[in-house]
Amino acid sequence: MPATPSPAVEDIVEALRARGARVTTPRRLLVECLVRAGGHRTAEELAAEVRSAAPDVHLSTIYRNLEELEHLGVVSHAHLGHGPAMYHLATATHAHLVCRGCGAELEAGPELFADLAREAMARFGFQVEPYHFAVVGSCERCRRALGSDPVP
Ligand SMILES: [Zn+2]
Ligand SMILES: [Zn+2]
Ligand SMILES: [Zn+2]
Repeated sequence: MPATPSPAVEDIVEALRARGARVTTPRRLLVECLVRAGGHRTAEELAAEVRSAAPDVHLSTIYRNLEELEHLGVVSHAHLGHGPAMYHLATATHAHLVCRGCGAELEAGPELFADLAREAMARFGFQVEPYHFAVVGSCERCRRALGSDPVP
């Protein structure tokens, strides 16, 4: 653990306190791991990182804290495939395109789903959440390799 936590960690901790949430040691360590990770982590990976600083933290504590941090709007998760959920800071939420051939993960901003979101709302009154599950398909490399879709 770094001696001086990054400002982002302190900002999050402060925001949690402002909302009346308790900031326990496992919870703070979890936030630190997520800030440091920068990308996705499974609950098990986060548990391993938290345990390197606090060996007696149980996996169930990690799951419960992730759930609570999600309710507090600090963390969000996504399902990229058949594997475990991936967690990251809610500020880093983005959409995923996952290749069924090689497993490549592409990240996309909200603009990719702007038309879909508009149409779904206009036609069905339905608000889409395009970030929760990945969109599965075939990446450019795999399509070329299969020759299924000749690239000019
Ligand atoms: Zn989910
Ligand atoms: Zn992602
Ligand atoms: Zn691929």
